[in-house]
Amino acid sequence: MFRSKLRALLLSSRHKKIIRHYPFVPVTPPENLRGRLEVFADRCIGCGNCVRVCPSRLIEIKSSDEEKAVIFYAGRCIYCGRCAVSCPEKAIQITHEFELATDNKNDLEIIIKIKMVKCRQCGKPFITQNMFNKQVAKLEDKSEENISRLMLCAECKRKSQSRGNE
Ligand code: SF4
Ligand code: SF4
Repeated sequence: MFRSKLRALLLSSRHKKIIRHYPFVPVTPPENLRGRLEVFADRCIGCGNCVRVCPSRLIEIKSSDEEKAVIFYAGRCIYCGRCAVSCPEKAIQITHEFELATDNKNDLEIIIKIKMVKCRQCGKPFITQNMFNKQVAKLEDKSEENISRLMLCAECKRKSQSRGNE
């Protein structure tokens, strides 16, 4: 017992000190540390991928006629990074920030709000504004006619196509 303690003491004396005086002296986190989530609302298309992959089930989507809200109750986050990996728009980033202590879990809540686009035929909200902008950007010919074709929900599009085939 005594010999093993002495050996441990001798070994530790050979290594340099690893005491850090944190929090009095700031520390630089390791490069691969996964910390606070950062979201970019202007990139989010409201696809819900992050909701499906989150193991803590802390991301929720609430929809109304006017907007879609993606809500992160990040107080339950385990910083696995799956949401960031699964986001097709790179709207979620895992930062190195780790000093997140708070006595109010609502401080950690993140909300993305995206406007909805309504079908020009039936008025039903059917696509988020960011997703719509993406589809418009993909159009080679951005004529008013083509853009207005995109402003139809799936049902109205099908009806208008079947009318065209008659
Ligand atoms: S980092 Fe993991 S636990 Fe946290 S919100 Fe993303 S998927 Fe969920
Ligand atoms: S944050 Fe990314 S994965 Fe989540 S809903 Fe928005 S676009 Fe989809």
